[in-house]
Amino acid sequence: MSDIEKVTCLIIGSGPAGYTAAIYAARADMSPVLYQGMQPGGQLTTTNEVENFPGYPDGVTGPEMMVQLEAQAKRFETDVRFGFITKVDFSGPVHKAWTEDGHEIHAETVIISTGASAKYLGLESEQKYLKLGGGVSACAVCDGFFYRGQKTVIVGAGDSACEEAHYLSKLCEKVTMLVRRDEFRASKIMAERVKNTENIEILYNTETEEVLGDGQVVTGVRVKNNKTGEESTIEATGFFVAIGHKPNTDIFADYINLDETGYIKYEKPGTSLTNVPGVFVAGDAADHVYRQAVTAAGTGCMAALDAERYLAAKGH
Ligand code: NDP
Repeated sequence: MSDIEKVTCLIIGSGPAGYTAAIYAARADMSPVLYQGMQPGGQLTTTNEVENFPGYPDGVTGPEMMVQLEAQAKRFETDVRFGFITKVDFSGPVHKAWTEDGHEIHAETVIISTGASAKYLGLESEQKYLKLGGGVSACAVCDGFFYRGQKTVIVGAGDSACEEAHYLSKLCEKVTMLVRRDEFRASKIMAERVKNTENIEILYNTETEEVLGDGQVVTGVRVKNNKTGEESTIEATGFFVAIGHKPNTDIFADYINLDETGYIKYEKPGTSLTNVPGVFVAGDAADHVYRQAVTAAGTGCMAALDAERYLAAKGH
């Protein structure tokens, strides 16, 4: 078909991983085409202030940083496109991808940087304060600092929740952890650490009914004990949700090796290689451990360098 587009490097996703891959690929003359995906700019666009990305001594807002990364990628002539890839076929030597409007792309190399999405409870009040940037967060390492000396609530009972509760406990006056069952899902060692931390209070069998606020910022949380039906209010300025992430990898599942929770498995540790030659991965689509903008950017660089080497080995 004549409208098939041939590209050297297709980058799927526009978080720090995708844009960094684009900067490197563009500067290596790979003429990358980057599809921004459902949430242009990725998870950072829902973060307020980013204070831990090196090189920004005064901090930067998440959306502002993504605008700058996009501009930097475009400066080297990355073809940044609004739209998303809905289907791929990695079964042959040419990697095929289709956009939502049916446009077919044949790529010599593909860099997957589709990221992951934090799961939220879905309560109206939670979403309201999340959108307002008024005290709801799914990343304690990113946002905990803003709640120094204050009271926070964290939902979840897995390893992430334990790690984040412990992190918050070092900054906050008090952390209340809401566990929906009567036990943790987390590994014993992580759960024990939380249980042994003085300023963490654990409420078992407890679910969030409503995130309370003054219309601008969070002021507390109304909770319910799902065994007794008893309701109570907890005073807090920060509401953290740590109930897991979902990697955005569904469209790759038929071709790319994923772990049991959907994260892409590296073919070779210390590289960005997937099981399909010519297809590389960067950022949170393969990382459930670090999940930071700076680590995503680092792996974006790795993916572009690996793609360049792959092409060079093919005599490109
Ligand atoms: P998990 O899926 O392991 O845990 C999610 C937690 O959130 C569970 O306790 C679950 O409760 C709870 N939850 C889910 N939905 C709701 C809800 N609607 N309301 C209240 N609670 C809810 O996710 P994690 O992000 O914690 O971990 C993901 C993976 O990453 C795991 O394999 C983990 O071991 C790993 N990890 C490892 C770390 C480390 O080793 N340092 C650090 C962080 C993560 P329930 O138990 O009732 O289902």
